[in-house]
Amino acid sequence: QPSGSSKAPKPSFSKQDLQHYEESDFSWSKEVQAKLCSVFQLSKFRPLQQAAINLSMSGKDLFLVMPTGRGKSLCYQLPALCSKGFTLVIAPLVSLMEDQLMYLKSINVSAVTLNASSTKEDSKQILAGMIDKNSPFKLLYVTPEKIAKSKLLMSKLEKAYNMGLLARIAVDEVHCCSQWGHDFRPDYKLLGILKRQFPNVPLVGLTATATSNVLKDCQKILCVQEPITLTAPFNRPNLYYEVRFKDNEDCTDQIAALIRGRYKNQSGIVYVFSQKDAEVVATDLQKRDILAQPYHANMEPSDKSLVHQRWSSKKIQVVVATVAFGMGIDKADVRFVIHHTISKSIENYYQESGRAGRDDGPADCIVFFGFMDIFRISTMVVMENTGQQKLQNMVAYCQNVDRCRRAMMAIHFDEVWNDEECNQMCDVCRHGNDYITMDITQHARDVVEIVEMAASMDEKLTPLKVCEAWMGKGPAKRRKMIKVTSLSRLEVESIIIHLLLHGYFSEDFSFTPYTTYFYLKLGRKASLLKNGGHSITMKMRRRVVSHATVKKVSESAGEKSSAKVEGKRPADSDNKKSVAKKDGQAVD
Ligand code: ADP
Ligand code: MG
Ligand code: ZN
Repeated sequence: QPSGSSKAPKPSFSKQDLQHYEESDFSWSKEVQAKLCSVFQLSKFRPLQQAAINLSMSGKDLFLVMPTGRGKSLCYQLPALCSKGFTLVIAPLVSLMEDQLMYLKSINVSAVTLNASSTKEDSKQILAGMIDKNSPFKLLYVTPEKIAKSKLLMSKLEKAYNMGLLARIAVDEVHCCSQWGHDFRPDYKLLGILKRQFPNVPLVGLTATATSNVLKDCQKILCVQEPITLTAPFNRPNLYYEVRFKDNEDCTDQIAALIRGRYKNQSGIVYVFSQKDAEVVATDLQKRDILAQPYHANMEPSDKSLVHQRWSSKKIQVVVATVAFGMGIDKADVRFVIHHTISKSIENYYQESGRAGRDDGPADCIVFFGFMDIFRISTMVVMENTGQQKLQNMVAYCQNVDRCRRAMMAIHFDEVWNDEECNQMCDVCRHGNDYITMDITQHARDVVEIVEMAASMDEKLTPLKVCEAWMGKGPAKRRKMIKVTSLSRLEVESIIIHLLLHGYFSEDFSFTPYTTYFYLKLGRKASLLKNGGHSITMKMRRRVVSHATVKKVSESAGEKSSAKVEGKRPADSDNKKSVAKKDGQAVD
């Protein structure tokens, strides 16, 4: 029996308690603040970070529930740097750990990992470092398996604990403890040993999952007596989310029209892909009489702060920025955040678009979805372990035509979600059912064949080349061998993206000393297309589908599709859901 079970429940952590921990007059506050700036290069805390850090520094056990991308890691990394000894971090995936280590290395924080692929030499050195009074590293990342399986590790932890060198335990993705969570991992279930063996070491559990049942379960499994739970709200009900297609490679005209029309006299941000884009797009907007200025990492600090200042005081209307524009921005009345290029992940998108509407007034978040941008970003994140997967999620968010954008984000962040909460504040909910379901099996065969044929001739094709070849714009010798499509450019792009997202194509990178190239190669599912019975359907926005295709769809498909093509909408949302579900099953 857990010892606390018969006691009356303790009053939960109150607002006043929280206020106390948001102060900055603790004995460690100066050091924490200094390292925030000097080591992490951040100017100030995000909501709840300061409280989380103070609680953890005070020795409290803590669960921190925050949407992904808000900065949970800082809440144990910064305390780690301000404490004697080292912090033990449990994380579920080696790839995530390596991304973290890469980041920590880049800011000169010494951190190490022990996992199944560590060499004997490394392990030996790390195990020795754990009981070294000079603490050669401040963070030790391990998988839960390692805790469960390595008696040697446990024995060193015990020794470190007795020497006062085990400063803190951080359990990342703490929801993995619970079978009620979406991502249960058996080895997490054994982590209770840590708190039982090292009761005086404060533990911080981090997750984006908010349900209280899961947290209660985690508390029991980890043997934490009375953790304090800090939860950051996820939904931003005042933000309107929208995705638009980039027709021709450029969308500056559309953006300019929005800024001069709908957002007249209102402040906003246009996010772009690169420093060069920031300069170019800012100039293009200026030419259209918009007070816009660029902002990127390669500018003089004084210029950067000047742009920021002018924007804050409404002397300029728009900042055209790379992701470097984010730190220390607390302008409350940002009415629009437009992405000239998609973000590299949903986490990033949530964060960047979230700079709109901090005053709780209505604000728009519009992303322009362009085909070529996908591959520019893909090669940019090629070194990150989780880079491609994250990008694919972002692309799927943009390609989506039938799910509430909020719901997609919520699901991505493991939030509990009910569809009414959007309140028509996204393009899908507002214009619901504005799509056509197409059978693209034959199209898929045709385009996969193009890539296959090129491969057989030892030739690699970029996505652009594939588009062009398929549309009959490639070199003449190739044109003779392929079935040229009559689909429009946007349809062609959408289908290629769909095939990439669903594993019929995959990415094939090639490195030169100067650039990384992105080629398309056959994916793991391409061979399924040889099977006559295999079919692929996809949903496409009605506006994207060209007139010729619409005719074909309605001729070839049964009643259901033609009803949709005629523009008849299902009478109620239930109906809509069941249609969507049926379609969903048809899709591979
Ligand atoms: P999470 O674990 O919550 O998903 P991370 O800890 O990986 O999020 O942080 C996401 C991003 O937010 C990182 O790039 C990090 O540098 C940034 N970040 C964290 N705290 C702050 C802050 N106070 N100000 C600005 N950026 C921050
Ligand atoms: Mg994290
Ligand atoms: Zn919605």
